[in-house]
Amino acid sequence: MEKVSEEKPNSKGRLPTWTLQDFEIGKPLGRGKFGRVYLAREKKHKYIVALKVIFKQQLEKHNLHYQLRREIEIQSNLSHPNVLQIFGWFHDDERIFLILEYAARGELFKELRDLKYLSEKHAATYIASFARALAYCHEKNVIHRDIKPENLLLDLEGRLKIADFGWSVQSRTKRHTMCGTLDYLAPEIVENKAHDYTVDNWTLGILCYELLYGVPPFETESQVNTCKRIIKVDLNFPSTPHVSAEGKDLIRKLLVKDALKRLSLQRIVEHPWIVNNADPSGICNEGH
Ligand code: AMP
Repeated sequence: MEKVSEEKPNSKGRLPTWTLQDFEIGKPLGRGKFGRVYLAREKKHKYIVALKVIFKQQLEKHNLHYQLRREIEIQSNLSHPNVLQIFGWFHDDERIFLILEYAARGELFKELRDLKYLSEKHAATYIASFARALAYCHEKNVIHRDIKPENLLLDLEGRLKIADFGWSVQSRTKRHTMCGTLDYLAPEIVENKAHDYTVDNWTLGILCYELLYGVPPFETESQVNTCKRIIKVDLNFPSTPHVSAEGKDLIRKLLVKDALKRLSLQRIVEHPWIVNNADPSGICNEGH
């Protein structure tokens, strides 16, 4: 939906920009920290999108407007089937509007809540998609650093979409305040040590566990105890028959305290559990 492709530059030589009048606004899809997300249809091409509305006052209050601009630029340059696309943005006096690819099935974690846990085929398809998308981003020197499960969305066909790229400061605050959980943090972050892109590989291990068992591996009633379990890598597997030895092997190879020893993204997609279970199309219709 490239507006620029059919339009000519205006008298100032600038390409035309979007305005709110270009869209019909539909139902609200969700609420974030700085505004709301609505279903919307671009009037001319009848293209369905998600319109994210961010209040400038809120952004400025948290001093995040420069960060938003940078992140929009980064995300606009990414093109991968598992990275949520930004088509463009515009603003009025009070608000910034992001025109986003519509993820019709919403949050992956809503699906997990409904199904309680996922089958190995279902989980492996998401993990493979996630690993490929991260490998693509790392290749482009884009490091998410702070992927949060609530930022994983699903399109109509069940394809995983990573959203909110690089909103690291905002999304971490969001998770702590919204959910009061530290479950996805890597030990080096909990211990406040230097960390790099290998935290993403840890995150994949936590996600894989939670998708298969319905709960994150180091969950406790208190944040202090969760931190202790993360630092010790106190990993246990419930004795459920639906998870194979290969699935547990992959999780064990990702939840490794020494960041350098975590399985690389390339080796994740070559792991037998992924090869034997993930749907190569990346599409998941189980439970639908
Ligand atoms: P956010 O402000 O990005 O945290 O979004 C708030 C909520 O809106 C999310 O948790 C989703 O449920 C929903 N949402 C955000 N972006 C999209 C999208 N592109 N397509 C569908 N739903 C979305």
